This record gives sequence, C-alpha cells and structure tokens, in this order.
Amino acid sequence: MEFINKEILDYSAKNTEHEPDLLKKLNRETWLKVMNPRMLSGHIQGRVLSMLSKMIKPRNIIEIGTYTGYSALCLAEGIQPKGKLHTIDINEECVLIANKYFQNSIFKNNIKQHIGNALEIIPKIKCNFQLAFIDADKENYINYFNMIFNKLDVGGYIIADNVLWSGKVLKKQKDAETQSLDDYNKMIINNKKLKSVLMPIRDGLMVSEKIYE
Ligand code: SAH
Ligand code: CA
Repeated sequence: MEFINKEILDYSAKNTEHEPDLLKKLNRETWLKVMNPRMLSGHIQGRVLSMLSKMIKPRNIIEIGTYTGYSALCLAEGIQPKGKLHTIDINEECVLIANKYFQNSIFKNNIKQHIGNALEIIPKIKCNFQLAFIDADKENYINYFNMIFNKLDVGGYIIADNVLWSGKVLKKQKDAETQSLDDYNKMIINNKKLKSVLMPIRDGLMVSEKIYE
C-alpha cells in the first residue's frame, strides 16, 4: 500500500494536524483486536477526509464500508449540525466497535449505522447526499457509483478509496479486484458529468465532483 518512502511519510505525518485522541484510541483498538487493521484509513488519510468534508460542508453523507468507524468519524467533522452520515457495513463485529466510538463522539446524533449488504441498503435510504465515500468490496465500486449518482446533488462529491490498490492497477495481468478498480477509474475519467482527480494519497483516492445531473 505504501508507495511513498517511509521517511517521507513519517515527515508528512509529523507536519500534519495531529490525530484526535478518540481516533488514536480507535486506531489502536482496531490494530489490537480486529482482522485486517490496514483497512483503517489512518492518520494522514483521515485528516484529508476531514478537510475535504469541512470544505464541502455536506448536509448528508453516505459511506459504504464502515469497518471500525474511523473514516466515518473523520467525514463527520465537516457535516452540518443537523446533518446525517449514513454508514453501511455487512460485518457485525466491526459495527459493534464502530458503534462504541460513535457513541463516545460529539457526532453520535449525526451518525446512522446500517447493517447489511450495501447493494440492498442503499435503495432504502431516502435522501439526497452532498458527499459519498465508497470503501467496501472493490468488485462493486461501479454498482455503488451507479446507485448513488442520482441521489447526489450537483456540486456534490464522490470519493472512492484504494483506487491504486497497492500499485497493482499498473499490472498487465489483473485479478478481479484490481480489474474492477481499474474499470472504476476509467469509467470515472470518461464520465462527462464529473470532474475528477486521482489523488495518490495512501492507497489512492479518486475524488469526483458531480457537474451535471
Ligand atoms: N472505511 C473504513 C474501512 C472500510 S474496510 C476506514 O477507512 O476506516 C471495508 C469494509 O467494507 C469492511 O468492513 C467490510 O465488512 C465492508 N463490506 C464489504 N462488502 C460489503 C458489502 N457488500 N456491503 C456492506 N459492507 C461491505
Ligand atoms: Ca479503504
């Protein structure tokens, strides 16, 4: 996942807003107790998500892939006081840890957790969004995009994580997940209704603004 030299990453982390205490605890608990802790966004990417959300000031956010709640808490930092962040995950073990941290945060009234398969849950959430974060199973990124696009306001943003997939998108022979992520990136950049930047932050963030309905 890390393409950038470790010393440069450490230097960047040192010169980035520090990780809030609650997130530091959640980061630590995830590494101690949960499978695949590398999936957690982490310090620098978390601060990037927080900053983007504060710039967008969304009323409603949808997140696909809660895991232990780290990215949700970062995205919630930019939400409007009465706004809602809907976050979806299929894994009940993660959902419990996430819930504990949401309850301990100042955003507990802004976050709504949904448990189950995102493909089934997204159609049931009846509101429009100004920000979407796609970070669940990679094979469904395009499906998630298609399900969310009509619920996203013009001027809203869709952010997709892991779009560089540890650099594997460059390989000629791609496994199913890598192929799906490469397909996602191509679909996005050829979509005339969006303006997008692939930011080579951590494992790659595709940030897309919806320009037309
Ligand atoms: N956004 C988190 C990390 C998410 S990891 C962070 O940055 O901290 C990916 C999550 O997607 C896992 O918790 C996994 O359970 C969830 N997931 C995978 N397939 C899913 C599906 N079909 N529906 C909902 N969640 C799914
Ligand atoms: Ca991720």
